[in-house]
Amino acid sequence: MYQAPRGTSDILPPEQRYWSYIKQTAAAICELYGYQRIDTPTFEDAHLFVRSIGEDTDIVEKEMYSFEDKGGDQITLRPEGTAPVCRAYVEHGMHNLPQPVRLYYMAAIFRYERPQAGRYREHHQFGVEALGDADPALDAEVIGIAWQLYVNLGLKRLALSLNSIGCSDCRPRYLESLKTYYTQHKDSLCPDCKRRLAKNTLRLLDCKNPACLAPTEQAPRSIDYLCPECADHFDQLKSYLNLLNLPFSLSHRLVRGLDYYTRTVFEIAPEGETGSQVAIGGGGRYDNLIEQLGGKPTPAVGFATGIERLVLNLKKQDVVVPALPPPTVFVAYLGKEARDEAMKLTSHLRKSRISAIASLSERSLKAQLKQANVSGARYAIIIGDDEVKSKTVVLRNMAKGEQQTVPIDKVAETFR
Ligand code: AMP
Repeated sequence: MYQAPRGTSDILPPEQRYWSYIKQTAAAICELYGYQRIDTPTFEDAHLFVRSIGEDTDIVEKEMYSFEDKGGDQITLRPEGTAPVCRAYVEHGMHNLPQPVRLYYMAAIFRYERPQAGRYREHHQFGVEALGDADPALDAEVIGIAWQLYVNLGLKRLALSLNSIGCSDCRPRYLESLKTYYTQHKDSLCPDCKRRLAKNTLRLLDCKNPACLAPTEQAPRSIDYLCPECADHFDQLKSYLNLLNLPFSLSHRLVRGLDYYTRTVFEIAPEGETGSQVAIGGGGRYDNLIEQLGGKPTPAVGFATGIERLVLNLKKQDVVVPALPPPTVFVAYLGKEARDEAMKLTSHLRKSRISAIASLSERSLKAQLKQANVSGARYAIIIGDDEVKSKTVVLRNMAKGEQQTVPIDKVAETFR
C-alpha cells in the first residue's frame, strides 16, 4: 500500500470548504488593498534561496528539498515565497512600474522538517509583498492585511508581536554586543545555540530551549541599538499601528528565521500560546534583498501565513465555515428512452449554468433517490416512460418531498 509521503497530506473533499473559505477571504482582502496575484514556479535555482535566506539558517542548512536535475542544474523546491517574488520583480523589470508594486501569492512550500501537528514537509502559504517603498506606512498596511485576514476569517484572541532588528548600519554594533553577552553565558546555552553563537547570533534570541530562555531575558535588545533612521521608522510604524487600532506588543526576542529581514519584523500567534509551531503568520521588511539578487536597491516589506495552521485554528475556535455548494439537481430516470432524455437534459442544465449530476446505470428509483440524497442535491428530476411520452419531468424538492410536473423544455427556466 502506498501512502502520502511523511509530512504531506491529501486535502480531501470534506476539508475543501476550509481551503476555499481561506483563499476567497484572502483574495477579497487583497482586492480591497489593491494587491495583484502572482504565481511563481514550484522550483527555482537553488542559489536563489541560499543567497536570500542565508547559509547559516535552519532552512538552508537542513530543510531544503534540493536536487540536481537531469540537465545538471541545482534545483530547490520553494521553501518560502518571498525570494521567488523578488526574483520575478527583478527579472520582469517591475521597478519600471509605479512603486510600490503590490503582489500576493498562494503557494505550496517545501521544508524537510520533523513533522508534527501544525508542522509539515509540504504546507501552503498565502503571502503578500509590497516592493519599492521604504515608508513605514507600507509596513502598517501589510500588517493591516494580515490582521484583517484573521478578523474576517472569524479568528479571535490573536496577538501581534513586533520588533525592529535595524539595518546594515546599526545591526553590526548590536550583534557585537549580543555576541559578547552570550559568550559570557555560553556554558548555560543549549548545544545548538553554542554552535549558532559564532555564525548566527541573532537566532539565539528565539531559541525555544528552556536552557536558553533565562540568559535571553537579560540579553541586549535590538531596539536599544537602532540608528536614528531605523528608530524613526520604528516610531512611525508604531504610531500608524495605533492610528489603525492594531494592537501589538513589543518582543525583543522576535527575530524570525531568515537572514534577509531588516528593520520591522512581526509575528501573529494565538494569545498566550508558545512553542515553535504556534505562529500563524509573520513577516517583515527586507530592504536589501532585491539588490542582493541583482536588482536596483529596492526597499520592500511582506508577510505570509500558513494555510494549514489557519485551518487548525478555525477548527480549534469552532468557526463556522460556509459549506461548498452542493449540486442543484440530480437527474434520475427509468428505462432506455428516459436515459437518453436524462442525458440531454443534464447537458442542457449545465449549459444553462445549473449544476447537475446524472444517474448512472440502471437502478431502482428508490436507489437513485437515495443517491440524490447523498449527493446533497436540492432537487431531483425524475424521468420515466410516461414523462418521455408527455415530454415532461417530475421535479422533486428533496428537503420538502414536494413534487411537481414540469414540461421538459421549461426545466432550466423553472430553476432560473
Ligand atoms: P515562515 O516562512 O517560517 O515565516 O512561515 C510563515 C507561516 O507559514 C508560519 O507562520 C506558519 O503559519 C506557516 N508554516 C511555516 N512552516 C510550516 C510548516 N512546516 N508546516 C506548516 N505551516 C508552516
